[in-house]
Amino acid sequence: MPVTAEVANKWELFRGLYQSPVIKHFGDINQAGKRLELMFARPEIETPSGLKAASVSTSIYNECNFRTILSKLYTSPIETIFCPDPNQGLYCQLLFGLIQRDEVVMVGSVFASTVLRGIKFLENHWQELCYDIKTGRLSDWITDSGCRNAASLVIKPNPEQADLIETICNCKSWEGIIRKLWPKARYIWCICTGIMRQYTTELEFYCRGLPLVSDLYACSEAICGMNLEPLCKPCDISYTFLPNMAYFEFLPVKNERDGSIEMKSNNEDTELVDLVNVKAGQCYELVVTTCAGLYRYKVGDVLMVSGFYNNAPQFQFLERKNVILSVDQEKTSETDLFKAVTEAKALLDPLGFILTEYTSYVDTSSAPGHYVLFWEIKGKEGKHCKELDPKIMVECCSRMEESLHYTYKIYRKRNIIAALEIRVVKQESFEALMDYYVSKGTSMSQYKKPSCIKSEEALKILDSRVIGKYFSPKSPL
Ligand code: AMP
Repeated sequence: MPVTAEVANKWELFRGLYQSPVIKHFGDINQAGKRLELMFARPEIETPSGLKAASVSTSIYNECNFRTILSKLYTSPIETIFCPDPNQGLYCQLLFGLIQRDEVVMVGSVFASTVLRGIKFLENHWQELCYDIKTGRLSDWITDSGCRNAASLVIKPNPEQADLIETICNCKSWEGIIRKLWPKARYIWCICTGIMRQYTTELEFYCRGLPLVSDLYACSEAICGMNLEPLCKPCDISYTFLPNMAYFEFLPVKNERDGSIEMKSNNEDTELVDLVNVKAGQCYELVVTTCAGLYRYKVGDVLMVSGFYNNAPQFQFLERKNVILSVDQEKTSETDLFKAVTEAKALLDPLGFILTEYTSYVDTSSAPGHYVLFWEIKGKEGKHCKELDPKIMVECCSRMEESLHYTYKIYRKRNIIAALEIRVVKQESFEALMDYYVSKGTSMSQYKKPSCIKSEEALKILDSRVIGKYFSPKSPL
């Protein structure tokens, strides 16, 4: 996406604006302490015409203004953000966050999945981190010179701090770990709507009562809106659009069946609605025209008007358009899938298991084709997912099919679609998937796990980690 000086000014303006509702509820955290925000820049590349290209988050981290405030407001030195190896960067950002734990007033990252990635990384590395804090040295596998230099300026032997952290991390349950490690944290900052809502249950477990604040809706194409009620539950969040950030137009979309969303018409130009004319309760696809030169650009997000703040429309994020599973003529959207997974995973919760990650794909290698769900399941309090009764997993398959839309069920009854399958994958499979996408150039700061896997290589990563396969035993109709 083109980035001009005017675009950079809008980011700057927005950064000031979207923090005001947060300040209202949590006080001026800039004065209170520092943010432990996990941030990952990607190396810039050059286009054939000689322009620099980078992920939007990288451009923000590169701004002079950001660099000026970094050391005062954030725990992570710039070298750890720009470290070419995201794992080394993550290790060092956690290390710096732990060393300054008494100053940390906010923990977060742009997306909820990155915060969880950080916690899981901590689960695997806390002993090593404690050793580094105790001895005042940095682990040998951190070879990046920038990170080593930054650490050498700050890290000193601190056995008392290391012992405290060790005691906290050594407990059996990690419930509320964020609160315990960063006792002054006032909230967790991350986007937890849209595809990220699947992570809220697990995040809530780790924060125990600390609010999850999802305060902005923005994309590389344009900054869109902010959440004026930072304390509201993730499922109720609406974003109030800021009309000075881009020229927003909306393509109406409607529920054609069973709550799934389809386009009303392909004749977009005649259908476009201005921001001022959107109607409460109506769903739209977002279209932006920006000062950087995008003209009527379809962002690919579907939003619903949930209300108005004065005259400014507020939107709930519904889903990415076109993320669908389809074997025949049925179309299953991201929302359909989320609803079905939510129904099915409710069977696991009372048994002490949590569904931590899922994705899907359509397997057409045999006829008829069928939906495949990859599930990563974690046992609470030291339980292993191998202890999970296979009958429950079969029941989850049935529950998912029952919760899918009518067209799916009819096709399934007529054997146009074969039985839905859940493949349980071993722990850290989805981290391996993230690593794969990051190795292909995705920025870890902006990573969003696909709801539906299209790449053969990505599929192989998950398939090679399958530890159990379960099928729905009967048609849902
Ligand atoms: P990117 O392509 O990395 O610029 O990511 C932008 C996309 O992330 C948007 O088009 C949305 O699909 C998603 N996104 C950004 N903010 C939010 C939000 N607050 N809630 C849900 N999804 C979001």
